Amino acid sequence: MRVVKFGGTSVGDPTRIVNACDIIAAKRAKGPVVVVVSAASKVTDMLLKAADAATRGVADVEPVVARVRGILDAFSLPHSLIEPEVIALREAVAAIPRGAPLTPERSDLVASFGERFSVRTIAAIASARGIKAEPYDAYDVGMITDDHFGAAEPLTESAERMRDALSIPREGVAVVTGFIGKTADGRVTTLGRGGSDYSAALFGAALRADEIEIWTDVDGVMTSDPRVVATAKTIAVLSFTEAAELAYFGAKVLHPKTIHPAVRENIPVRVLNTFNPDGEGTVITEAGAPVEPEHPARAIASKKSITVVQVVSSRMLLAHGFLAKLFEVFARHRIAVDMVATSEVSVTLTVDRDEALGPALSELRRIGDVQVIRGRSLVAVVGLGVGDALGIAGRVFSALARAKVNIELISAGSGRANMSMVVSDADADKAVRALHHAIFDERA
Ligand code: ADP
Ligand code: ASP
Ligand code: MG
Repeated sequence: MRVVKFGGTSVGDPTRIVNACDIIAAKRAKGPVVVVVSAASKVTDMLLKAADAATRGVADVEPVVARVRGILDAFSLPHSLIEPEVIALREAVAAIPRGAPLTPERSDLVASFGERFSVRTIAAIASARGIKAEPYDAYDVGMITDDHFGAAEPLTESAERMRDALSIPREGVAVVTGFIGKTADGRVTTLGRGGSDYSAALFGAALRADEIEIWTDVDGVMTSDPRVVATAKTIAVLSFTEAAELAYFGAKVLHPKTIHPAVRENIPVRVLNTFNPDGEGTVITEAGAPVEPEHPARAIASKKSITVVQVVSSRMLLAHGFLAKLFEVFARHRIAVDMVATSEVSVTLTVDRDEALGPALSELRRIGDVQVIRGRSLVAVVGLGVGDALGIAGRVFSALARAKVNIELISAGSGRANMSMVVSDADADKAVRALHHAIFDERA
């Protein structure tokens, strides 16, 4: 059994949808398949914009409706296939109160329609092309989550429910929504932006799939974002650890949580290109490729718009439990800390959820002097051998010095699969290109 996930661009226009349907048919011919789909490209953004505009009393969902109907039109399918969802979307947007901030719960409900449209559209198109396909909303086939709207997590019973709902042998394929779930009391949640990869991995792990395939718009996981580095190359084999580090440090090709369910059940994840279906893609496994001590780096990732928080406290000197006290504040406010550096009297760390920082800051100010620096980027050199490689730091620093990039914070260490740095947002792309050049291009 395999789980086959298609991202927004892969289901974003008629030609690409035909490609995706051909891939589904080819996979189904070889064995059982569960298909997971995202919203068509741009649709989630349009929905969130409409929800936000509704708080100002100017919401208009018709452009989204027209976008999805346009896809149905291209295949001469009736608009009635999505009519109940269109009505429910209009109601959800109309119910948003004016003049008050949009709640995460309402935002998730509106955002969920992208995937709800998608499964119905794709299943109908696949069926018209001779593949027996049934659409499902993930929450009707086991995706029950907590109520952490915007970043929901599946409940433990979720996996068993997924198995009960989807392990039954079927002639065709189930087409399931990525990204969304429901709380036990029936409120729609999302797993976070880009979360369809995570949905695919959760279904894959629950169904103990032989493989989880992520079909996207690039040839696999590459040595850098090809939009930033024109010479980026596809990586044939990656370890779970390396892929998780890359995703965590901003390689958008995989949602950061995607690898965890795969690790749990030891299921290979393959990243493939819907526009180049014969390509080998990238396979991500527990072992990955052997470490080459001379060339330990596999890829460079970056994450923009992060915030640096520095806490300075003279009381910290020799104080037991200081760090525990500090991190407890972040944990309680559900703010993930990405990178940490400490000195005798200060702790500097980076976070990417700036919105949640406000209430945490006033508590941190009770611990020490707090400085907040915004507009920063994390840049990470990732590879299993990076922490132990001789000379890599020298190469990294001289490449960045040559490019006149100022490094504001560094985190590295023996045994680690990454070396990460903080630079200004304005320098991030330049830093990635300089590092790619020094580490990969010069080697070629
Ligand atoms: P999908 O809609 O299929 O989920 P995404 O846009 O979320 O696709 O992710 C694919 C994009 O990720 C690529 O178009 C590419 O620009 C970006 N990307 C960032 N880092 C990498 C990387 N290391 N390798 C490949 N793609 C990357
Ligand atoms: N449609 C959602 C988003 O745009 C989820 C996804 O594409 O994975 O964030
Ligand atoms: Mg994605």
